[in-house]
Amino acid sequence: MRLATWNLKQAVAPKKPAADLWQWIGDTVEPDVVVFTEAKVPNETPPAGWQAVWIPGGVGPKRRWGTVIAGRGVQVTAVTSVTTGRVRQKTVALEPRWPAAAVVADITVGSERWATVVGLYGLTVDTNGDKCGHGRYSVPALLNDLEPLFTSDRADRIIVAGDFNMWPSDTWSIAADFELLDCVSLTAADRPVLAGCSGCDEGDQCGHLWTHRNGNSPNAAVQQIDFIFATPTLADELDTVYGGPDTYPGIWDLSDHAPVVAEFS
Ligand SMILES: [Zn+2]
Repeated sequence: MRLATWNLKQAVAPKKPAADLWQWIGDTVEPDVVVFTEAKVPNETPPAGWQAVWIPGGVGPKRRWGTVIAGRGVQVTAVTSVTTGRVRQKTVALEPRWPAAAVVADITVGSERWATVVGLYGLTVDTNGDKCGHGRYSVPALLNDLEPLFTSDRADRIIVAGDFNMWPSDTWSIAADFELLDCVSLTAADRPVLAGCSGCDEGDQCGHLWTHRNGNSPNAAVQQIDFIFATPTLADELDTVYGGPDTYPGIWDLSDHAPVVAEFS
């Protein structure tokens, strides 16, 4: 199974029409499952050949963008409530405070649930809803809203993927709190150190991917702010991780983000 996450930059000053980006990732990355963030939400149906879930209308009036989970050759089913409790089971609704930023879907292959995927966009707002330029408040807040998922009967196989708007060194505590493993870090030894890696405390162990180019300056910060986290059961099945401009030359002409891709056996 190949899962990708990519921010399409449809919220502000898109570089390409959404249809071109769906076509590109389908032809070039060929994912089974993809999380799109800052994606223009489809009007009614996704492009032919894809299944997808999203929140109609997106983030709000005149902001018809949000997180979209899409798949090809798999079944993609929205998850809006979960069953928790070992003895007294109960059904609990999943109610992320920004619904279009955190979308949850089951990915089913044949008759088997492969994983439950949380597509996550770290809105750059603080506790008061004021702009703060990072997702260090919104990402843990959204995951806390989804806490029932992590204690539900789906808890063994969960992937959280998307644009967290956070640097790697800020994500460790979140991974720990939700018992998730960072697929990029797990495979860091497969890659060279990312020169100029922002917000990184891993020194010569850094194997981060350049996923966001902030502006067109030659000195634009080199930063990984898009991540794929997985529960230990799924992390055990992780084969390879790749992405960024080394894998996809010319990616900055399509979006200011580059895809991160994880392959699971
Ligand atoms: Zn790094």
